[in-house]
Amino acid sequence: MSTYIFGHTTPDSDSIIGAYSLSYLKNQLGEDCIPSRQGEINPETAFILEKFGFKKPILKTSYAGEKVYLVDFMERSQSPKDIDEATILGIVDHHKLGDLKTDAPLEMWVRPVGCSNTIIKQMFDYYNVEIPKDLAGMMMCAILSDTVIFKSPTCTKEDTKAVKELAKIAQIDDPKALGMEMFIVKSDVLNSTKRELVLRDFKDFNMGGNKIGVGQLEVVDLSVFDNMKDELFEAMAEIKAEGERHSVLLLLTDIMQEGSQLLVLSDENSKIENAFDIKLQNNQVWLPKVMSRKKQVIPFLEKEF
Ligand code: MG
Ligand code: MG
Ligand code: MG
Repeated sequence: MSTYIFGHTTPDSDSIIGAYSLSYLKNQLGEDCIPSRQGEINPETAFILEKFGFKKPILKTSYAGEKVYLVDFMERSQSPKDIDEATILGIVDHHKLGDLKTDAPLEMWVRPVGCSNTIIKQMFDYYNVEIPKDLAGMMMCAILSDTVIFKSPTCTKEDTKAVKELAKIAQIDDPKALGMEMFIVKSDVLNSTKRELVLRDFKDFNMGGNKIGVGQLEVVDLSVFDNMKDELFEAMAEIKAEGERHSVLLLLTDIMQEGSQLLVLSDENSKIENAFDIKLQNNQVWLPKVMSRKKQVIPFLEKEF
């Protein structure tokens, strides 16, 4: 029986490419693994898959009775609903310790680096397995995406080193230029509904019994959102109500200015204000230097809740 490897709900490039790269490594090591995904892929991931000649991994949302490896998450709120009926053989991740539990010992590769694919690159090195050219190119793109082309505070020396080595294998001379190309694709927000935009990179967290959803859109120029704030708030209100969420936050991150406009809909605005020591105006605030949800947003919310 095959083992499935997949990333979080509303998959990003790291989740999709991590499923491919870890499956390839496991298959080389003699384990029969299949990459899968829990949801639709985003435009950036579609661009990367197309560029390196890969198809979307299979869509699979139920894993009862299956053996699985998790990549790029370990939160119950980002898992398939029947995750408790699956056997988790291992986790490769770069997030905070989550709330999943297992019945049996498992393999854990968890490190505070900028991308799961950096860890998977290190696993290839550890097992002395060669990475095929196109897979290396994709892994490099995943790292450029997660680290916002090395600008995110989550980026470490290990990430830049991994990109360098992967670029060499993939024969890509200018990784940063390709990264910029990816972020320009990512910045196209005009061809999606506002609801799709809020949910494009959206994660739910359980904070002190409250469901808090935090979305993020990373663009090269924040002005693309100038005339759509009201509609974004409408979509956020809808998502807040249907999921019985305490708060829905949306980070509009400008990767050139290196900061984020935070949009907030909350049952308690004061909690959000306290978390970041700010005052909201029209349910918004500019957060200079804030680019990472994982490192600069979630920990402060967790503390407050
Ligand atoms: Mg991710
Ligand atoms: Mg990641
Ligand atoms: Mg991200």
